Amino acid sequence: PSQKEEVPTEDSSIQQKLMDIMNKENIKSNLKHLTSKPHIAGRENDEIELVNYIENEWKTNGLDNVVSYPYDVLLSYPKQGDSNYVAIVAPDGSESNISQRKEAVIDPVQDDPDVVDPFNAYSAAGQPEADLVYVNYGTIDDFIYLNRTLSISTQNRICIARYGRIFRGDKAKHAQQYGCIGLILYSDPANYCVPGKGVYPDSWYLPPTGAQRGNLKLERGDPRTINYPSIATAWLQDVNKTSLPKIPVTPIGYIDAVKYLDKMSGPEVPDGWAGGLNITYRIGPGFVGSYANSKMKMSVKTANEVKTIKNVMGFIRGSEEPDRYVIFGNHRDAWIFGATDPSSGTSILMEMVRGYSEMVKQGWRPRRTLVFCSWGAEEYGLIGSTEWVEEFQKQLLFRAVAYINVDVAVSASYVFKSRGVYSLRKLLFDVTKSVPNPDQDEVAAGRATVYDTWLARDPSDSTDPIYGSVPYFGTLGSGSDYTMFLQSVGVPALDMSYTYDYTLGVSSYPLYHTVYETFDMVTKFVDTDFSYHLAMARIWAEAGRRLADSIILPIDCRSYAVYLDENYESVMAEFGDRMRNHDIDTDKLKEVIDLFSKAANEIYNKAAGLDLTKHYITAPSQHNNYGNAGFPGLVDSMFDIDADPDQDGRWDEVKRQYSILIFHILSAASTLRNPV
Ligand code: GLU
Ligand code: ZN
Ligand code: ZN
Repeated sequence: PSQKEEVPTEDSSIQQKLMDIMNKENIKSNLKHLTSKPHIAGRENDEIELVNYIENEWKTNGLDNVVSYPYDVLLSYPKQGDSNYVAIVAPDGSESNISQRKEAVIDPVQDDPDVVDPFNAYSAAGQPEADLVYVNYGTIDDFIYLNRTLSISTQNRICIARYGRIFRGDKAKHAQQYGCIGLILYSDPANYCVPGKGVYPDSWYLPPTGAQRGNLKLERGDPRTINYPSIATAWLQDVNKTSLPKIPVTPIGYIDAVKYLDKMSGPEVPDGWAGGLNITYRIGPGFVGSYANSKMKMSVKTANEVKTIKNVMGFIRGSEEPDRYVIFGNHRDAWIFGATDPSSGTSILMEMVRGYSEMVKQGWRPRRTLVFCSWGAEEYGLIGSTEWVEEFQKQLLFRAVAYINVDVAVSASYVFKSRGVYSLRKLLFDVTKSVPNPDQDEVAAGRATVYDTWLARDPSDSTDPIYGSVPYFGTLGSGSDYTMFLQSVGVPALDMSYTYDYTLGVSSYPLYHTVYETFDMVTKFVDTDFSYHLAMARIWAEAGRRLADSIILPIDCRSYAVYLDENYESVMAEFGDRMRNHDIDTDKLKEVIDLFSKAANEIYNKAAGLDLTKHYITAPSQHNNYGNAGFPGLVDSMFDIDADPDQDGRWDEVKRQYSILIFHILSAASTLRNPV
């Protein structure tokens, strides 16, 4: 039998095949199926129906292994039939201006008993009544400004904050820290609409009753098992001793927020605090006029529940390095239908797995193992991915090569966006340069690839010392399933999506976490013919393929050194003088970054100069493909040497090959030796 030939990384025919094998129609029908019912974490539609669907599809595709990992974890739901609301309560206890418990049904599909009414997961339950205070975005600076600069106390008051700027869980933390006894979150038109552009169902912007669901948890994973997996034997922390919010929090739409905000007393808000409602924004506390003696009331019956959630994992075994994992992840659970978040991602995950399986059927196999993950309960604070990483942390430390996350694959069609570890930037630049631009107007304008529009519409504001002018590439905070891979295992990670024009000024895509994220909304306003979904599938698949197939990993550590340098510069600009005044030698940090940079350059140059076409110890014989040649470099250099007129040149080559062989055997020996 002949030896398998190495598949060169940049083998464009394999890339072409992988790109051509996936198609838009499949992605569209996947999305249709995935969004046919609401599928919140912990309930049957997601943990049983969609889990079975994904398992069956992947088994039918012929993956080498498909496994589900269940965990019993703490989730949270509003009370069925008595969901949350807020209202103004008069001294006699009568309630007025009661908020909508549900978002308006605009398309009949939204009238579904499985739709979970607006709530914030892990809120405390309670019925507080108090004076209302407007706290802008509820950032730490907003609370400091109110309490210190304006001397308006938020103690024992109910606060109302607009969504945007920061994670909602931090708004709740700040409110609690500053003594509030309740927090109302609302979506202001300034952050989720654009004047003159209409709202859903006429456009992509947020209609008045739209309310953003979302969790408030600050620690990742099951809050009862921090740092450990929620397996059957796990010790469980008492829920009252976890860091979950102690105050009631619930979201409302601007149809209701305006009723409270326009009755508020107190001073007008400072610059930058007013939203887009047609009122004078005031801080409070409390109401004016006939409402002066009334209070704000919240009725929050959100409660925690232990539920089983599941991750589905599929594997394609690597041919040469099966114990090296290239991991693709996307969450499955949605607040409601999830047509953008996350099912746009799941629809391409399914098509990518089918595409890869097809390649395997046709005789291709990746060098390293591909792992496909459908995470459960991401919306509850990355629970599925966190429990899994906690359970398999030790294997992942050695085996994980890279993690590529796609949560919302396509929220809009303006530009490609990515964030991640800098060592993976070059890979993504290269991959997007090889994927056709789904935007036909851009193609007509001469921008043939995804990269071209990315560079044109979202350029980095500085020239990169290695790559020159490049598109903007962000860094990872938290907010989706890459977090534990990067933060707890140190795996290089990427996150990417197709998104909107940031100059629109919206805080997220406007229908985020509302009942209006439906299949029809996507086909109408986001990606009519699924060409952006297909482009994302191609980018995701090809980035993974290069990581799985390249003999030398496409990880450029020089770029990581650039990231270290950038951080050094910005941190020193801010704190350098004060650190030096306290006798801290700030040059030392620069020195070690330079050391790192030097090593990164050395390994880069070494890798670039390697001859990858030939194994130094064993290869198919030059003269008989079935046969084997030991020490092929040396043997080839000696072949028919006496007949060559260039005797000096040939013997020089023999000496070179001989020294290379010695070097490789020495390296192999030192690898086997005890490291200390
Ligand atoms: N992606 C979800 C959200 O932004 C969960 C993020 C998290 O809890 O870290 O609501
Ligand atoms: Zn998501
Ligand atoms: Zn989400």
